[in-house]
Amino acid sequence: MALTPIVAHRGSVTRWSQSLIPTLREAPAEAECPSHVLLLRAGFIRKLGAGIYDYLPLAWRTLRKVQQIVREEMDATGAQEISLPILVPIELYAGTRRDRDYGDLLFKLSDRKGALTALGPTHEESVTEAVAGSVSSYKQLPLSLYQITNKFRDEARPRSGLLRGREFIMKDAYSFHATVDGVGGLNETYDKMFTAYSNTFRRCGLSFTAVEAESGPIGGSASHEFMVNADSGEDTILKCPATGYAANVEKCEIGTRPHGTFQEPPSGELTEIHTPNLPGIHEVGKFIKVKPDRMLKTIVFQVNSSSESPVSEPPPSEPPAPAGDSTSLASPPIRWILAVVRGDHEVNEGKVRIVSGLKVTLADEKAARAAGFAIGYVSPRSVNTVPNTLLLIDADASLGGFWASGADKPDYHVKHFNWRREVGSKLDEPRYVKLGDLRNAREGDPSPRDPGAKLVTARGIEVGHIFKLGTKYSDAMGFKVHSAQQQQQPVIMGCYGIGVSRTMAASVEQNHDANGIIWPMPIAPYHVLITLMKPEAPEHQAAAKQLADELSSAGIDVLIDDRDERPGVKFKDADLVGIPIRITIGDKALAEKSVEYKLRKGDDKGSLVPITEAAQRCRDAIVAAMA
Ligand code: ATP
Ligand code: MG
Repeated sequence: MALTPIVAHRGSVTRWSQSLIPTLREAPAEAECPSHVLLLRAGFIRKLGAGIYDYLPLAWRTLRKVQQIVREEMDATGAQEISLPILVPIELYAGTRRDRDYGDLLFKLSDRKGALTALGPTHEESVTEAVAGSVSSYKQLPLSLYQITNKFRDEARPRSGLLRGREFIMKDAYSFHATVDGVGGLNETYDKMFTAYSNTFRRCGLSFTAVEAESGPIGGSASHEFMVNADSGEDTILKCPATGYAANVEKCEIGTRPHGTFQEPPSGELTEIHTPNLPGIHEVGKFIKVKPDRMLKTIVFQVNSSSESPVSEPPPSEPPAPAGDSTSLASPPIRWILAVVRGDHEVNEGKVRIVSGLKVTLADEKAARAAGFAIGYVSPRSVNTVPNTLLLIDADASLGGFWASGADKPDYHVKHFNWRREVGSKLDEPRYVKLGDLRNAREGDPSPRDPGAKLVTARGIEVGHIFKLGTKYSDAMGFKVHSAQQQQQPVIMGCYGIGVSRTMAASVEQNHDANGIIWPMPIAPYHVLITLMKPEAPEHQAAAKQLADELSSAGIDVLIDDRDERPGVKFKDADLVGIPIRITIGDKALAEKSVEYKLRKGDDKGSLVPITEAAQRCRDAIVAAMA
């Protein structure tokens, strides 16, 4: 009796001897992480240049399966597939200035007339242009569009094979709305996308964590990253074991920490020390015999003027004045921000923005020097000497006790820095001094969601990112629609990316052993590998053909290893390539009208299955694994 099909179309049947599966005994030395090594060795990919890879037949089969899952999940959100040109005329960036913001990451080429064109790193501008061309009323919204195409980024350090390429496959989706809340609003689509992403990565056989990422223009957490849990990951994730809160290091809040009162007594007399030619805080610390956790690190930021910025975040305004401060209206705006953290901590730029309420970037060194900051040697005292400066102090750096700091002049540091003595009465003016959470979270910090719990860290690979853009692009490109009240209103957008090729590699990071890849069933290039012990024997060929026919008519994909190779070579390659189900056809089993059935996963030793039952056995295992 014929098998009940698992899908509507026939499965593929491929003969290894006629395919391009160039397995390698060794991977090139530069390949370090498991997915890079194994995808090369198993003959899935081939390097063509730095960060540029061929997807050979096996890889392309898996990528198509990943894409199919992505498509199904995107379609389920109501998004429609499109395909935008990879070439993006540079003029499209006129309003958004992303050509400038992307910097060297953007691949640019000039055509025969000398006009510049970019190779799309993502397509916010192109898609906004496309939609703006034909949507003019709120009635045409919401609208979600997606595509699956190659993206180009001239990464500074392309590495880890497909994990960070310069040309890679991405699914990028964009949604357009008239409102944030309610039916048809951005939040509704965002939540649908969140579910679609969770389904996609689960179906790709990945263990992942959705983490809160950047804060955004709409308030709250404007974005989530989907992180595949892997030690080889480049990103640090922080999690609260008690509540499930998870965030990336750029975003992670820290629970309440003790802070100082600025009334603590000095630890000694302020002493200047000559510290020439010491490149970093560790070298300075060694030289003056102070541990970095007793040093103050003061980083200078500049406040961007609103005209410089294409984004729709609240325009830089002065920080809210404390109640009763009658001088505030007349005070000049803040131009500089000093962020002070402990020497062993890292300043978090996003938190500097949140605590200051201003749009800031790291100060341009030349401009900061010209304003009077001794870059490299700045101390919090500069708040008193450089006008229009706001001093932000991280809780840990505000405590009393011994501190070393820069001395506000080149090549000098000070010991016994005391907040009250050195900074004085400005500390009491909330307009100029604020205390808060300014640094990157780390393992052991108090959880922001449960006072009793401590944050733990893990490594991850970012495979997806969903983002509430707000009106950043529509504003910059002048895209408005008529509202119900016949007013022109800005269009609210979201964007949603999945690294398709990175997802395939991330799956290998999680699904492999010392011998090779172990593909999760839904994205395996083939479901079943039939290995012929003696390809020259007609009865082996006949048994393989019959089984393959039966399987493929049920929609099951079959690879037949019919190569004229020693069994040892074939078994090694089978482990390497990682097809989930293995059927071996040999004399001994055939004599008993059986084949050997073995799973790649676990330490299945294999068992004999009557030929007549083999196909059903495969089908049942596949259906169970796809559920
Ligand atoms: P990363 O921080 O890893 O550089 P990103 O945040 O710049 O990535 P996005 O702009 O959010 O990336 O792109 C959407 C998705 O595209 C990412 O979540 C990631 O999965 C994938 N991606 C980005 N850059 C690369 C790359 N160089 N190679 C492969 N995949 C990538
Ligand atoms: Mg991202």
